[in-house]
Amino acid sequence: MRFNPKARIDQSQIETRSGGGLGGGGMRLPMPSGGGGKIGIGTIVVVVLFVVLTQCTGLLGDGSGGGGGTTTTQNSCQSGADANKSEDCAVDLFTNSVQSFWSQAYPDQTGKQYDVVKTVRFQGSTASGCGQASTEMGPFYCPNDQLVYLDTTFFDDMLQGQLGAKGGPFAIGYVIAHEYGHHIEDQLGILGRMRTVRGPKSDSVRAELMADCLAGVWAGAAQKTTDADGNAIITELTPDDVKRAIDAAQAVGDDRIQKRTSGRVDTDSFTHGTAAQRVRWFNRGMEQGTINGCNTFDTDNL
Ligand SMILES: [Zn+2]
Repeated sequence: MRFNPKARIDQSQIETRSGGGLGGGGMRLPMPSGGGGKIGIGTIVVVVLFVVLTQCTGLLGDGSGGGGGTTTTQNSCQSGADANKSEDCAVDLFTNSVQSFWSQAYPDQTGKQYDVVKTVRFQGSTASGCGQASTEMGPFYCPNDQLVYLDTTFFDDMLQGQLGAKGGPFAIGYVIAHEYGHHIEDQLGILGRMRTVRGPKSDSVRAELMADCLAGVWAGAAQKTTDADGNAIITELTPDDVKRAIDAAQAVGDDRIQKRTSGRVDTDSFTHGTAAQRVRWFNRGMEQGTINGCNTFDTDNL
């Protein structure tokens, strides 16, 4: 896939933070021995691409400040040309593309306004409205401060490294679109009604599969999304690119991750759904193109 080199990145949708590593008040999980600083997959198994559902106690404020020793830094990503060269800039332009899509599609389909929210790019750890965000948690959406949190080392170290996905730019797009899928769920009031967090038919699995489906809805229309000046954001998207997004969705399936870590599958502890379910709902979103088509709460055929 290729971004339009002339597409302009809207930095108002991005917050870049740095300095949240050691000594910054950031909580660090113990590293596995011999890991060379890499994070063990066991630490992350239940929290890859998720939504934080615990309610904020208010101790951390709104999470938008420089808590945990982090500071907001300059964002050097300007254009699609930058996004073609840098994963960080690709995150920014995908954020723009996903929100360009929902800014139109959400009002069209629900009659309500879409709230544009920011992606926080960080490395190491940073404060969030859902507690301390860290690399080990993987990307997530926090409903308390309505921000998407993403450590950009996730794609190389985790998704391709530990989880064995093929990767590629459109896999990054899938991850961003999945997190913004949780933001759509939040606006629909779904996240506030979540009760069961584990098990193959749990609310958690339903919300995760719905987010995959909503990512598919975006993916199906990604080439039509435009920047603030009306320039196309993505100029080239091949079937192989879409396959790589699907491959990433498979790599983060509960059964796949459990097999990699423990060698067996325990359906009672599912939080996200199987690899096959994640692919099925992503494809359904691509085919149907609507929020209604993604209603995982209205069926037992997950
Ligand atoms: Zn999720």
